[in-house]
Amino acid sequence: MSKARVVADGPLGQTVLELFADRIEVLPWSVTSEGSSAPIDAVYTYGHPHLNGEMLDRLPGVKVISNYGVGVDHIDVGDAAERGIPVGNTPGILDGATADMGFTLLLAAARRLVEGDRYARSSEFTTYDPGYMLGREVHGATIGIVGMGRIGEQIAKRARGFDMRVLYHNRNRKEAAEASLAATYVSFDQLLRESDYVMLTVPLTNETRGMIGVEEFGRMKPTAILINIARGPVVDMDALTTTLQSRQIYGAGLDVTDPEPLPRDHPLLTLDNVTIAPHLGSATEQTRQKMAEISVENLFRGLRSEALLHQVEL
Ligand code: NAP
Repeated sequence: MSKARVVADGPLGQTVLELFADRIEVLPWSVTSEGSSAPIDAVYTYGHPHLNGEMLDRLPGVKVISNYGVGVDHIDVGDAAERGIPVGNTPGILDGATADMGFTLLLAAARRLVEGDRYARSSEFTTYDPGYMLGREVHGATIGIVGMGRIGEQIAKRARGFDMRVLYHNRNRKEAAEASLAATYVSFDQLLRESDYVMLTVPLTNETRGMIGVEEFGRMKPTAILINIARGPVVDMDALTTTLQSRQIYGAGLDVTDPEPLPRDHPLLTLDNVTIAPHLGSATEQTRQKMAEISVENLFRGLRSEALLHQVEL
């Protein structure tokens, strides 16, 4: 059996390569700019490489684009649809892991864990002082979830365990989630004004790009903490930097930034009121295994022109 010719960004993880086995010939991502005279059967996106129609036009014969992950903001799904190419992703199986990371950041930012760890290791820590490093209470506080989707609902579930009041904002109300999670639908403005923790779990779209900027920070409580586990560009990074520098809000926890990674001399990296993870939302051994299996299954189904396990809708 001849191998399918698949363009992929790399280096690909070992699990993915094992699932490809001897059925896939991996071609380098440079083919998307250099073009190919021989047919290309599919595209596999692993680490969020940008992919648009112009690039697809250089790849004759592509039957499917399979993405390792749920967020597809790096792929122009409209361009793919115009060319009749389905785009597969991996929703559902990473909600728990990503919500766990959202809560990890929330707790770490509220209780100054990373700052405390640095202090506990330093030579400056010579004696316990009940007055140092006071953080913010988590239990009983109000959390505002912007984007009560699959991941947002998992955040709400965890927040209930901490006896938090749960507010959320979507474009559409979700009455079932309101009933099962005791969550209250509010306007974006009310969410910003009343939340102690603003948790971002929206996809990156034209509507959500920069949805937290100078004006929104101005509406947040001075004690509020912003957590971004969505995508970096949902937050205006310049506005975030000046807001944290002037301590206009209490702090932030970021799994994602814009750009990613931040330049090594970015002023955010010098601040003690921000906790940053290098995009670890779904990074557990178990979840990454499932992401590999589903994305590779989507790839094989697309190559056979079958319906994908999960196809992104426009
Ligand atoms: P989802 O189930 O589609 O949920 C997204 C939610 O956002 C929906 O409830 C949607 O509701 C809401 N939304 C969309 N546009 C909005 C807008 N303009 N204003 C307010 N709410 C809006 O998606 P998911 O699976 O939870 O994933 C969400 C995103 O998380 C992904 O797209 C990805 O970028 C990110 N993610 C990050 C990591 C990480 O490693 N940090 C891991 C996985 C996913 P309405 O349609 O009613 O507005």
